[in-house]
Formats: sequence, structure tokens, C-alpha cells
Amino acid sequence: MEYPITRDYIRFGNSRSGQKISKVRFIVSHDTGNPGSTAYGNRNYFDRSQPSASAHTFIDDKYILEIIPLTEKAWHVRYNVTTDNRMFGDDANDAAIGVEFCHGGKINFQEAYNRYVWYHAYLCDKFNLDPKRHIVAHSTLDPSRRSDPQNALRPHGVSWEEFINDVQESYNRDFKGIPTSKPKPVVAGVSTRLPIRRGNTGAFVKEIQQDLIKAGFPLPRYGADGSFGPETETAVMRFQKRYGLAVDGLVGQATLRKLEEVIKQGNSTHEEFPLPDGVWGRGDKGEEVRMIQRALKHINFDPKMIDGSYGPLTEDAVRRFQSMYAALADDGIYGPNTKKYIQLELNDM
Ligand SMILES: [Zn+2]
Repeated sequence: MEYPITRDYIRFGNSRSGQKISKVRFIVSHDTGNPGSTAYGNRNYFDRSQPSASAHTFIDDKYILEIIPLTEKAWHVRYNVTTDNRMFGDDANDAAIGVEFCHGGKINFQEAYNRYVWYHAYLCDKFNLDPKRHIVAHSTLDPSRRSDPQNALRPHGVSWEEFINDVQESYNRDFKGIPTSKPKPVVAGVSTRLPIRRGNTGAFVKEIQQDLIKAGFPLPRYGADGSFGPETETAVMRFQKRYGLAVDGLVGQATLRKLEEVIKQGNSTHEEFPLPDGVWGRGDKGEEVRMIQRALKHINFDPKMIDGSYGPLTEDAVRRFQSMYAALADDGIYGPNTKKYIQLELNDM
């Protein structure tokens, strides 16, 4: 079994410093904690928003997507945890590859999981690592704050031990004894082939079509079918005309950015998310907590979990949000500073 790896690197910024990894000593397994967010959705988010957190590779049911070169550092584990130093003699950010599992929503678990397993085996082969000794869960390194990737695997009946066994099996089957000279399939990222135009097909076209529909430009005949035909082209041109862009029917950076902006604005005008004042944390209950959860659902919180009760999931969502900003303490407690940043983030969407 062999999967293509897509390399589509984000630009330099807070998420990608360009600092080199001197030696890859281990792998940290993560999940995105953001059900339904795709590999490309994450890539585009990191590229655009440049939070001070990142990972090398995002995997869903369609892509194994490397967004930061494996020769460079990514920011996927806090520096002040010590388990990584104890286990591997180094900080994860300085010596590990961070791999994110995309899950939930419309993502096919089995397809995404197969790629996730295979890619871990691929990394073991590439960097001469032992699946049983050199792969660690983020939750092991930062147990007080993190529960990934078990959070995403367990609901599908996969334990950490089974995951490692699956990686070992893939390693034995797909890599061991196979000459290393055998080239692994690598494809260029779709976003390097902008503009997207009539005649193009695939997952990225489908995402554009879904965005057009959300932005109020329906595709009544074919819908979001992943094939860029005349109907999609007409919708793109109508969109471009409405928003003062060059009307050429080609989807390049400017059109993509506008599309994203329009959708986010549309959401925020349809829905209001007032946020409470004061300090809220674990154990609190009530309408204020519900307001926080409703706002967070646009960022990283599973809308199904909105229950007005500040439990571990809410705390984790607040922490994950805080960890994106150096100015915020990652304490999982909602207060005036966190409120301010959530509002900024929502306005930015
Ligand atoms: Zn993680």
C-alpha cells in the first residue's frame, strides 16, 4: 500500500519560522480537535492566520498534506512540558515531526486512519525510527491539557496500543526490506496550481463550489460535484462581478480570499455571538457558559456539545484557543483577555 504525499507549504510567519530541525528523533501524534476540519481547511487557516502553533502534516480521508517541510521546526507541543525531554532528550518542537489527524464531520474515518497509520510508518522509515519506541501521543507529553489523538481514535474503537500495532504492521509490510531508493509518491499541492479554472476536477474544486453555494451563488444543476464546468464558471463570474473583482471565471488568490471573507461575514451577520464579562471556568454553568460555547463553536468547539456547562471539553477548547496567542495564559479559564481575543478572532473570520 502506498499513498501520495502532497507538499503544499504555508508561507513564513508565526506558524512557520523556517528554523531547521537538526535531527528528527521522534514523532508526536495529534488530532486537530476540530471535528470536520479538513487537511486543506487547516492548511489555509495556518497560512492565512499564522497562529503561534502549527504542525508539519495534516491528514484527512483525501490528503496527506505536509504544510511545513520536515526539515523545519513546527510548534506543536509546549516548550515547558518536560516529558519529551525525559523520554527523548529534547523538546518536541526541536526534534519531532508533528502529525495531525483530521476527523469528524464528513471525513471518512477509515480512509483518514489508513493514511495516518501509513504516514507514521513512512516517517519511521524515513528517519530510522522504531514504531514502538519513537512515536508518542500529544496527551502523553502534555496530559494536563491534551487528550489527542486518543480523543479522535477511541470513539472508533481504536486504542493507542492498537494504533501503534497498526503502524508497526504497515512498517513491516510497506517499508521494511523495500529498497529505500524506491521513490515515494509525492505530488505538488493543489494551491500551487492556482488559478483553478474550467476543466479542473477534484476535492479542492468541490470545496470552492461548496463555498460559492454558501456565499449565495447556487449551482442548481450539478451542485458541488467536484467538476469545474460552465455552471461553476458562471457562478464564479457572477461572484467576481458582485464583489468588484476581475471577471475572468478563474479562481486565484483574490477570488479565494474574497470568497472566504464573504462566507465569514455572512455567518457573523446571521448569527450573533455576545460574550459574557467576568471570569468563567471549570464547574460553572448557565447561559453565560452557553454564550462562550456558542462563540467557540465557530473556532474549535463541537456544536453538538453546547450544553451550558463548563466541563473538560469547554476547558480544552478554551485552552486550545489560548495556546494560539502568546499573550494569553493557557489556563482554560475564560476571562476579559480571552474574551477580547475571541472577539478579534471572530471579527477576523
Ligand atoms: Zn496535539
